[in-house]
Amino acid sequence: MDLRMDHSSKTVAGRSCGTCTLCCRLPEIDLFEKPANVWCRHCIEEKGCSIYEHRPSVCRDFLCLWMTDEALGEEWEPARSHMMIYRQGPQITLLVDPDHADIWCSEPYHTQLQAWASESEPTGGYVIVFWQDDVFEI
Ligand code: SF4
Ligand code: SF4
Repeated sequence: MDLRMDHSSKTVAGRSCGTCTLCCRLPEIDLFEKPANVWCRHCIEEKGCSIYEHRPSVCRDFLCLWMTDEALGEEWEPARSHMMIYRQGPQITLLVDPDHADIWCSEPYHTQLQAWASESEPTGGYVIVFWQDDVFEI
């Protein structure tokens, strides 16, 4: 998995990562040979990156969709939802915290995921959910 993002993405006013460190845990990061769902060796849980000033561009350039898309409500804040979302071309990817297996099936999340899938289908888009080794297309 590669977390490259559009560099023009801007943070929604009023949003910040706070103590969320989900993107340092959930995704696979090739550069660090980090598997999915384990902490990056540079992450201090709920505090942040111990090499923040020198973190590589793969980290520096990444913002999850909650940070850049005001259409995602506060319920999608990763520290609250236990999920992180990002776009890769036509794919909307949802990574689910292994400790919160079924949360993406609960409301209001599941209805919104189905709506995003329906809205993006005409242009070739789709939604993929990862939980542990399980993959679901919505
Ligand atoms: S998952 Fe989003 S909110 Fe959480 S640390 Fe990463 S970019 Fe920030
Ligand atoms: S280097 Fe820092 S920002 Fe990048 S994944 Fe590790 S802890 Fe997170």
